[in-house]
Amino acid sequence: MTASAIPESALDRLDLFVDGRWVAPADGASTEVVEAATEKTLGAAAAASPSDVDRAVDAARRALPAWRGMSAAARADLLDAFAAQLKARAKSTAALSSRENGMPISLSVGVNGYAPSMMVAYYADLIRTADADDVRPSALGSRTVVRHDAVGVVAAITPWNYPQSLAAMKIAPALAAGCTVVLKPSPETALDAYVFADAALAAGLPDGVLNIVSGGREVGAYLVEHPGVDKVAFTGSTGAGRAIGQACGRLLRPVTLELGGKSASIILDDADIEQFAAQLGAVSLVNNGQTCHACTRILAPRSRYDEIVDAVTSAVSDLTLGDPLDKATRIGPLVTQAQRDRVLNYIEIGRSAGHRLTTGGGVPTGQDVGWYVAPTVFADVDNSARLAQEEVFGPVLTITEYADEDEAVAIANDSEYGLGGTVWTADTERGIALADRVESGTVGVNHYALDLGAPFGGVKASGLGRELGPEGLTPYLRTKSIYL
Ligand code: NAD
Repeated sequence: MTASAIPESALDRLDLFVDGRWVAPADGASTEVVEAATEKTLGAAAAASPSDVDRAVDAARRALPAWRGMSAAARADLLDAFAAQLKARAKSTAALSSRENGMPISLSVGVNGYAPSMMVAYYADLIRTADADDVRPSALGSRTVVRHDAVGVVAAITPWNYPQSLAAMKIAPALAAGCTVVLKPSPETALDAYVFADAALAAGLPDGVLNIVSGGREVGAYLVEHPGVDKVAFTGSTGAGRAIGQACGRLLRPVTLELGGKSASIILDDADIEQFAAQLGAVSLVNNGQTCHACTRILAPRSRYDEIVDAVTSAVSDLTLGDPLDKATRIGPLVTQAQRDRVLNYIEIGRSAGHRLTTGGGVPTGQDVGWYVAPTVFADVDNSARLAQEEVFGPVLTITEYADEDEAVAIANDSEYGLGGTVWTADTERGIALADRVESGTVGVNHYALDLGAPFGGVKASGLGRELGPEGLTPYLRTKSIYL
């Protein structure tokens, strides 16, 4: 769509951010960003073409030597200024992201509002306190100096569900390591991505260190294969991740992939069911179920199965659904009509398979505008069913019965994915022992929350590599051993 065909809005972002400047896309194209709750146009975002990507990568390459060569202390100071500018914009960024993708504002304030500035400040601190010289005694009695150097130009490609924090998980460690970045956000949430540009300009980040080119998947694919890119950092679907992984394998280009999930909550027979039910919205239906690590498979022991089905059904039907900008809302609309149709189709798959619907099951009554789906629970679902195996990416939960702990672990691990998971028990040691047996990059005991200081990522079809924590810096560094 061209810019002139979209009604003008104060939120329009009709320019790309390249080399520290606002530049019009080469062919003047833009895409419409639609508000999830109202179905109305929120604004238009510039749509990059391959020649815009060329300009952005060139700018990032030109900026690389000076940024990479800067002392860690000087880079950390600039990143602290960048973090402060992001923090100053946190509330408006959170509201904008919620309007784009329907995320309840109570969640968005943290994950879209304040998390990016916290991540930038975290990595600034990490490089400021890191040892500059790593000199090791060698086995031959001499010494080896191990240098850590920035990998180079990073292509960061992000999805729409947590647009700010997923972008910051890449931008923050990449810039801290001394890499320069070209960010390609998702078209559904392109408007909020340019807040990073506003903050970079206000903080005085050198030109070309951070570049932002919004566009669709073909723009992303072009960026991944660009000869000027040294590393790719991707979050999104497993299908796109496989395609990007294949391209990077052919190019021998380092890549980090954070992909889909189908995580399980294992409720042990000694669990406090009230405590579990109180956290269900945050653990299993967070961001309207549009969360890669959401625990959408609930595994209940036979001895307490009926009690758990009742508790889950009642907790889910009590969640307040409505305007994502209302602080009381726990379930907002899905991001797009296509996403809602996809989720409704999965609900039909569940019905046709004969699973027992205990609550929800379609569009909530009275919600004619906005892409809402009532939070839905299917009980008596065998783990081999499509609903238990495929990532729905919406507010749909399944409950599956198990006989003993071994069977619970086997069901949890009977999945193509391995990203999140939780164990619920009165005995923390028992919970940790069980968490150890779950094939997954992260597991929570009696809660689930990402930790800025600990690595996050998946195994199996959930991805390759880790973000957050000191481990999140490593993919942006390359080592050189100098033997003395
Ligand atoms: P998507 O894969 O369709 O798109 C993600 C981003 O990649 C977008 O910017 C898109 O334009 C771009 N893209 C798509 N195909 C591409 C290709 N072949 N080459 C280059 N770029 C390409 O995913 P989505 O629908 O936006 O997001 C939802 C998915 O993301 C879910 O599967 C979810 O589980 C996953 N996700 C994973 C994590 C994680 O940390 N593991 C976090 C959030 C979301």
